[in-house]
Amino acid sequence: MAKQIAILGSTGSIGTNTLRVIDALGPDFCVAALSAHSNVELLAQQARRYRPAVVAITDAACAKQLQDLIGDLDIEILSGPQALVEIAEAEEIDTIVTAIVGAAGLWAAFAACGKGKTIALANKEPLVIAGRLLTSLAKENGATILPIDSEHSAVFQAMQAGTHRQVRKIILTASGGPFRDKSPEDIENVTLEQALAHPVWDMGPKITVDSATMVNKALEVIEARWLFDMPVDKIEVLIHPESIVHSLVEFVDGSVIAQLSQPDMCIPIQYALTYPMRAPGIAERLRLEETKKLTFFAPDMDKFRALLLGYEAARAGGTAPAVFNAANEAAVQDFLAKKIRFVTIVELIEHCLDKHNVRTTPSIEELLEADAWARNEVAKEVAHTSTGAIKQ
Ligand code: NAD
Ligand code: MG
Repeated sequence: MAKQIAILGSTGSIGTNTLRVIDALGPDFCVAALSAHSNVELLAQQARRYRPAVVAITDAACAKQLQDLIGDLDIEILSGPQALVEIAEAEEIDTIVTAIVGAAGLWAAFAACGKGKTIALANKEPLVIAGRLLTSLAKENGATILPIDSEHSAVFQAMQAGTHRQVRKIILTASGGPFRDKSPEDIENVTLEQALAHPVWDMGPKITVDSATMVNKALEVIEARWLFDMPVDKIEVLIHPESIVHSLVEFVDGSVIAQLSQPDMCIPIQYALTYPMRAPGIAERLRLEETKKLTFFAPDMDKFRALLLGYEAARAGGTAPAVFNAANEAAVQDFLAKKIRFVTIVELIEHCLDKHNVRTTPSIEELLEADAWARNEVAKEVAHTSTGAIKQ
């Protein structure tokens, strides 16, 4: 029986790469459900090509257009955010690829964990917001979370060389983004276009901005904390501009195991789909003799304050990571809309973390409250200063 796969966020960068991987894997992998937020045309094309049983458009305002485009096909059309939960819980689905961006993927992640599914997880934000609740729900229900994020896929692969107790530390690598070598003065004045030009990875706009601020690496530290059940102080970050070593695990005996490949998301996506097996892949092969040199250095925490704040939020725990994430999501949205400057994103995160009273071991309601509070706080700050300093 072919593995039945749902791709939530199939029109994005991870979603379209997942479809390329499935094309190459052949008939053992079947696209059973697809979702997009508002890119109706691409979703309709994908539906016509892959003929899933269900497609969902989460922006309900686009449902009529989707119906017009694929109403002739024998495909169930769902609309609205709840559709993701319905897909994640469906009996017929084996693996759910979560390729949605941001907190919008939260309920689908809960639904999939609650139903004991296999989750190929790209959408890291739900784990940042509610890592404790999600991982314990997954454990209770026998759900498996397999990482797609390249660093976490690398760690997951390296972890197989020893036991959990034998891990001394996890080392996440970071390309350093487009502003790695810029001075703090230059970073003050970067534009949206510069922030969207990532030197290595071709990704959606939100994670591209997150990579430029290094918020992405902060989110990844928190993601690793939950995925691998590791204390934050055992998770380190190293800048590695070549993006060949995707992360490393140091064991107690001093051995360091790393995963290397071309920087191509098809590799971690495929591993999450075929695990525990491997299959021939479509990514270009690594030729180390051409790479010649692999370099690593410690990140400058003053320059990339987001990483420092991320560690602080991770150590504080409770509602702090949810505030970190929500403040960032709101600020990035404003930056993408050219309402604020690049450096203001991290200033707004810091503002929210400073002002927030952390609740330890929060319920989901308290996490959502913290998320809403931070978004509102960002909106207030941006409105308050919109005539002055932070305007781009
Ligand atoms: P993207 O912006 O390219 O795609 C996002 C997808 O989610 C689209 O299909 C879109 O229709 C859908 N979507 C957007 N807003 C939505 C909403 N409110 N409700 C429901 N669906 C919505 O993003 P991406 O780069 O593919 O990233 C997806 C996730 O994977 C993010 O969490 C990101 O951090 C993570 N990730 C991405 C990469 C990468 O290489 N792109 C690497 C590692 C991790
Ligand atoms: Mg990553």
